[in-house]
Amino acid sequence: MGTKGNEIIGMDVSKLVTELNKALADEWLAYYQYWLGAKVVKGQMREAVTAELIEHADDELRHAGMLADRITQLGGTPVLTPEEWYKVTNCGYDAPSDPHVRKIVEQNIAGERCAIEVYQKLSTMLKDKDPITYNMALEILADEVEHEDDLEAILEDMDLVKKG
Ligand code: FE
Ligand code: FE
Ligand code: MG
Repeated sequence: MGTKGNEIIGMDVSKLVTELNKALADEWLAYYQYWLGAKVVKGQMREAVTAELIEHADDELRHAGMLADRITQLGGTPVLTPEEWYKVTNCGYDAPSDPHVRKIVEQNIAGERCAIEVYQKLSTMLKDKDPITYNMALEILADEVEHEDDLEAILEDMDLVKKG
């Protein structure tokens, strides 16, 4: 871990690591929710929705990687077991038990709204304290905002198709 790099952090590093681990747990659960959703989804616009879900799954996994790398850089340990994901998650896991396309998209929109809140809070906490993690949180926040927007657009298109 970078000694000088960690000295410039204007907050308790162990508290920061705890928050990053909570977000890491969220990202793994979001990854699996999207990944599995893409496998089981049925209904209107199935191909387009599947492609979007897979794209978002890839993004969540990439976010998990960014968080784990930063945690390690800070001298922390990324959550070591899947059991811990459940214990520390902010946003939880909503199983795609109903494969209907609208239901799956709605579940993931709820997840994105939670993620947006998490990264918004993290950014506020990190501003003027840790520029590196702050930038990372903003980058992830922008992706989550895009995810929510993409999913809302799918619902909008489905409604337009219905109206003809
Ligand atoms: Fe994410
Ligand atoms: Fe997302
Ligand atoms: Mg997208």
